[in-house]
Amino acid sequence: MKRRTILTGMAGIVATGVAPGMFVRAFAAEPEKGRRVVIAGGGFAGCKLAVDLRRLSPEAEIVLVEPMADFFSGPSSFDCLFGRKSFKDATRPYSLLAAKGIRLIQGQVLGADIAKRSVETSQGAFTYSALVAASGIELAPETIPGLKDDPKANLSLYDRTALPELAKRLSAFKGGTIVVSAPPGAVKCSPAPYEYALLLAQHLKSRNLKGKVVLIDDRPNPQPQVVAAGFSAAIDAMGPYIDYVFQETVAQVDAKKRDVTTGMGDKISYDLLSLIPPNRGSALVKKLGIAGKGDSFAEVDPTSLRSKAHDTVYALGDAARTPYGFSAGAASQSAALCAQAIAAQLGAKGPEISAANPARVHTACYPYLSSDLAMRSISRYAVHQDKGEMKLQSDPDVEAKGTPANKAARQKWESDLLASIFD
Ligand SMILES: Cc1cc2nc3c(=O)[nH]c(=O)nc-3n(C[C@H](O)[C@H](O)[C@H](O)COP(=O)(O)OP(=O)(O)OC[C@H]3O[C@@H](n4cnc5c(N)ncnc54)[C@H](O)[C@@H]3O)c2cc1C
Repeated sequence: MKRRTILTGMAGIVATGVAPGMFVRAFAAEPEKGRRVVIAGGGFAGCKLAVDLRRLSPEAEIVLVEPMADFFSGPSSFDCLFGRKSFKDATRPYSLLAAKGIRLIQGQVLGADIAKRSVETSQGAFTYSALVAASGIELAPETIPGLKDDPKANLSLYDRTALPELAKRLSAFKGGTIVVSAPPGAVKCSPAPYEYALLLAQHLKSRNLKGKVVLIDDRPNPQPQVVAAGFSAAIDAMGPYIDYVFQETVAQVDAKKRDVTTGMGDKISYDLLSLIPPNRGSALVKKLGIAGKGDSFAEVDPTSLRSKAHDTVYALGDAARTPYGFSAGAASQSAALCAQAIAAQLGAKGPEISAANPARVHTACYPYLSSDLAMRSISRYAVHQDKGEMKLQSDPDVEAKGTPANKAARQKWESDLLASIFD
């Protein structure tokens, strides 16, 4: 299985890559039973969609294309960074999905000829019945002058590949200034920058380290708005350990001098730089021509996750703009809606979305205030079309105060979600 196998030509067999931990069988350029769903991206959205579709459309080939060798659970990032969970415990091998009958290709979706229903991947081209962009967000470090000059200067919380090194640097940190940021525009998991600043401050304080965290935030107060008061009180309580610089941007980074210049021209020296660069929709969304006007995220119908530009193309999770936000909860819940819509496209009978039976999405978020306390923000959305107009109801359940019960609920929520995909 460690060999890289490229099978091409002859009987129309497409190229497939085989990597450790991934099980791939060669398959025909045309699907065996005429139905093939190709999913680009093996995050929460793509994986949950693949397992839901496997159940709803047992006859269809479900092909998941993902460049990474294994799945990492973003919500575990903090516990891994601060040594409360191992990276291994937050990771799942994709072979667990292969065991459920999902075909895996380690590679990338590069584009598609939508008129011909043909998708081009780094491992070959083949036809599809439905194509799904579940390719997440992209970071845009090049939009901050100086940030790309030394790619190692910034260890971002949002760069999965940087996390192990960041964990090492935090564990060895002897004190000083840590500069972090909440970037302008759409941000996945909007509370994460504030949780990060608080957990870093706790890290300094609990180790009696001299130093502080500088959080540069484009917005006037922490997000999401419903828990802003809880974050603000916790940031205030951290006193000198956090400088919260709000309504301010990172204008420039000088990696040689180790300083950040803000939009107002102030210079902040750092010992550790951990900015979140601006987030944008993945490049694939643009290549497929499914982005909203003036946007980098896919424009979709929130009840089916079908692209507004192409009938057989869908987008979900962080790659798409929906009313549900950019989170693992939203990604996996909208995967259930997308699976129903694709199954219906492939011929399965399912319930119609209507006022009496709206599409339902239930997102849960338990932002950390410290390693022991979390807040709660749960939203239940009901969405349907009425005379061409989208009707959206949401019913939030919020506790903007940290409790151990919310921390326990956070851990249960994440492990249930992972089990619903991989067990
Ligand atoms: C620090 C941190 C904390 C978080 N905490 C929470 C939390 O507590 N609760 C919560 O709900 N959410 C949380 N999130 C957010 C959550 O992790 C994301 O919203 C979620 O992972 C989105 O899932 P996704 O599948 O849409 O995208 P991703 O998980 O980003 O997956 C996209 C996948 O697509 C792949 N890909 C990209 N381009 C291509 C291509 N062209 N072809 C094939 N594959 C491609 C990528 O390699 C990637 O694996 C957190 C995120 C972070 C970073």
